Amino acid sequence: MSPKTIIEPFKIKMVEPIRMSTEEERLEYLELANFNPFLLNSDNVIIDLLTDSGTSAMSAKQWSKLMEGDESYAGSHSWMRMEREIKELTGYPFILPTHQGRAAERILYGHVGGAEKVFLSNTHFDTTRANIEFTGGKAIDIPIPENHEPDNLHPFKGNLDISKLEASIKEYAAENIGAVILTVTNNSGGGQPVSMDNARQVATICKEHGILFILDACRIAENSYFIRHREDGYGRTAYWQIAREMFRLADGAIMSAKKDGLVNMGGFLALKDEKLAEACSNLLIITEGFATYGGLTGRDMEAIAQGLQEVFDADYLRYRIKSTQYLGDRLHEIGVPLIRPIGGHAVYIDAKKLYPQIPMEHYPGQALVVELYKKGGIRAVEIGSVMFGKYDIKNQLIPAPMELVRLAIPRRVYTQSHADYIIEVFQDILADRENVSGYRITKEPEFLRHFSAWFEPV
Ligand SMILES: *Cc1c(COP(=O)(O)O)cnc(C)c1O
Repeated sequence: MSPKTIIEPFKIKMVEPIRMSTEEERLEYLELANFNPFLLNSDNVIIDLLTDSGTSAMSAKQWSKLMEGDESYAGSHSWMRMEREIKELTGYPFILPTHQGRAAERILYGHVGGAEKVFLSNTHFDTTRANIEFTGGKAIDIPIPENHEPDNLHPFKGNLDISKLEASIKEYAAENIGAVILTVTNNSGGGQPVSMDNARQVATICKEHGILFILDACRIAENSYFIRHREDGYGRTAYWQIAREMFRLADGAIMSAKKDGLVNMGGFLALKDEKLAEACSNLLIITEGFATYGGLTGRDMEAIAQGLQEVFDADYLRYRIKSTQYLGDRLHEIGVPLIRPIGGHAVYIDAKKLYPQIPMEHYPGQALVVELYKKGGIRAVEIGSVMFGKYDIKNQLIPAPMELVRLAIPRRVYTQSHADYIIEVFQDILADRENVSGYRITKEPEFLRHFSAWFEPV
């Protein structure tokens, strides 16, 4: 019999202390932050699950690569290494480095977007939507209906609804569609994977209508893990090979290297079409930097080239997906309502079910992120009506389809005992669930309000 515990496949060489705090202290910090965890000082957070973006621990190899960074303005060998790595992985000839994912989004969607343009996606990530809407374009989410059913165990719940895609093309006409964007894994849709079959169907339809097909590839390694273990015909295909096959189906890709690039900063835009790449390259030079560094230093580019290799390592990916599942499965066992199956990078709690007494106008998800911090010093993010809610003409809230709270797991940062601590905090939260009430917004900006809005208890 082989041991069943899946251990972290790394040893710890350097440590970063966590400062402990009391519930009393945390109540004070919450008030200073206007009950928005984005406004907390990270020194006052015990376990930070706000995001898996840019929070990865780099490997010894990546740190050593930093020393090899070539900081030349043009033609740096670090750029050549990063470009070669991405070209091999994506198969696309044109690679544009950017300081992070949204810079690539702004460049691409700034160019193909505009007032009459419609974008269709399995689910637009918040910065994707904001960049499209900022150009006057319209971002429409068309995930499969199962995506909105928290208990539905569909193996590829991140898929795009193909019949809705066809209907939308009919409704808006192909020439008005800026792009179809497949987000893998589907971050805002529960971190759920997208099947190769779904990507293939999207590719076929886009080709037929001459529509640009873009992959939002932030978590394509994690998505490849699910394809290998859940989709017929991939059981023996290497993860890197699966990712490569998916890239080949699209016309281009955006990637925030802060996720599956295993680095703290960086991203890229990769394209097949020369004309489009040229137009984007002009925008890149105006706003990000010269075409051989974008917003990146030479050492950043070295770390990305190395990270893109490490992320496809079979031991790493197994640990990554299984440790997220460990947390999710235990929380499910103790009765925390959550989205199943557990996604790749995060566990999504169903706050509407946890706190049925809190109306949407009082943001049940916000109540849960406040409770998590208060009781355990855990920082999480609301993905519900704070993030995606809109107002109608009478200024009434149009709630998001789900009220979720995301526990995003930084890569290679926390161990199983941290997960066990989180589970214990949730036991407290369950015991106290009836005594919790909601929040109202007291101040908010026009775009991406969840980052900086202020709240007060109702
Ligand atoms: C993080 C993310 C982005 C934006 O990338 P940044 O590096 O944060 O700018 C875009 N799409 C998805 C799916 C993401 O998760």
